[in-house]
Amino acid sequence: MYMKQNRRDFLKLTGLAGIGLAGTSIMSVNAFGRDNKSKHNQVVVDHAVATLVDGKVVSIPFWRVDSGKDGPSLALIAAQHGNEVQGAEVARRFQEVCARQLVNGSVWLVPMANLLAIRSRKHSFNLEPEQNNRLNPDKLHNMQRHWPGDPVGNDTARLTSALDQSVVRHCSHLVDMHCWEHFFAAETLATNDHEPSRILGEVTTTRFISWSAASQPQGEKMMVGQLIRKRGGGAVAMELSGQFHMQERQVQIGLSSMVNIAKHLGMIEGGPKLTRGSLVVRKSETSHEVIASCSGIFMPAVGKGKMTSLIPDDFVEEGQILGHIISDKDLATVPVIAPVSGYLWKFGPCHWGLCDASLPAQHPYTEEGESIVIIVTV
Ligand SMILES: [Zn+2]
Repeated sequence: MYMKQNRRDFLKLTGLAGIGLAGTSIMSVNAFGRDNKSKHNQVVVDHAVATLVDGKVVSIPFWRVDSGKDGPSLALIAAQHGNEVQGAEVARRFQEVCARQLVNGSVWLVPMANLLAIRSRKHSFNLEPEQNNRLNPDKLHNMQRHWPGDPVGNDTARLTSALDQSVVRHCSHLVDMHCWEHFFAAETLATNDHEPSRILGEVTTTRFISWSAASQPQGEKMMVGQLIRKRGGGAVAMELSGQFHMQERQVQIGLSSMVNIAKHLGMIEGGPKLTRGSLVVRKSETSHEVIASCSGIFMPAVGKGKMTSLIPDDFVEEGQILGHIISDKDLATVPVIAPVSGYLWKFGPCHWGLCDASLPAQHPYTEEGESIVIIVTV
């Protein structure tokens, strides 16, 4: 009934009702681009429930969409770090796609995994203002290092355990979705020596990808991808671009990656669509750093053929002006020039390794000798 209604609306909208389009290709797709095989799968909102050290209860909501057929169980874990939130909207949209298009298996979507950190609006929930996890002497609340968690451990271990029990242990495949600082382009962090994981990395839609060997857990605690691999499943990590904000372009990258992975696993019909154009594999040999030749304020240039400033992910040509520095010594305008052609992976000064937590760390004042741009050649 649902599809018939939509078909009728479409015909009404386009003024084609009653013209007799039967047999033409237009009849197989309605106004929303859904094909006639679309259906409504069961979507459940469930909760991973943790009791904290002080006895308070935290319920982390998640979606589960079930096709009603056997198949892979694919998890999306977004926002293990509370300032890396763009995957939440990816989860919401992917849930809508799966409600209509999932044909095999189930998906488990956790948009706000580290709810304590999100509510404190920080990477981890115990951080001081302008402190990031790297500088925190007490790293005990980095959820990413807590899997499979501990129901009687610290509060983050308890959240992690609840998520494992309610979601992760049921899943054969997993996407661990994070966000870099906005100075860096979105990137897939893929595993090249573990087949079930490698194939997930191959179909994501970030322009940048870096490959590494599957890391081994150091002790009992591990990353969620390591946990999935230990249990025989496949996992990939993604870093969208930008923390503390939500951006349409990044959400689209995340969503198209999830759809491609589901198609690759046979959970949604059709083949993966690789929309990124040139794939850039980031290696040290292909990465070219541009160093500030003086101190002052860095101003990004307008991109070629664009009305707006260059951003990470943009292609630049050798010799192109990437921006300039207004010298704080003599007010000279000092151009910053691309030494090679390639894609911007890092763009803009990001100070002291702290620009995921501090506004001064994102300040456009650069020191002489500071790294301001990294271009990766194709
Ligand atoms: Zn992260």
